[in-house]
Amino acid sequence: MGEGKARRISIFFITVILVMLVMSLVALMLAVETYVTQGNIDVMNTILSVSTIALSIYLLFQMRKRTLSLDFEALKVLTVIQCTKCNYRNVKDFEKGDYILKEVGSCPKCDGTLLIYSIFREVKEKEKSTGI
Ligand SMILES: [Zn+2]
Repeated sequence: MGEGKARRISIFFITVILVMLVMSLVALMLAVETYVTQGNIDVMNTILSVSTIALSIYLLFQMRKRTLSLDFEALKVLTVIQCTKCNYRNVKDFEKGDYILKEVGSCPKCDGTLLIYSIFREVKEKEKSTGI
């Protein structure tokens, strides 16, 4: 399954980002301590720490968004309804209790019986560019 693999990668990246975040926070604290005790500010260290913290938070937010959309898409199941008499066909969201060959009313075209023809999971490949 591709989903489990994607999740494992996300967890790995989140761990790396969290480590980065902690390290930059420590570096920033050291820079502040140097400033307090010695009176001179370590400009490079401060800039690097602050930008790493900003980057980490940004990446975490991006990751969260992507994980959420992946979960949403994975759960999207559709039901195809087809008329037994004519070629009327309709696709709707899957509802609990739907099964193949279940009667779901009458055809709006010819008044024939509508049956659930198939149930499938929709796979969308519309990865939006997040800028990473
Ligand atoms: Zn029909």
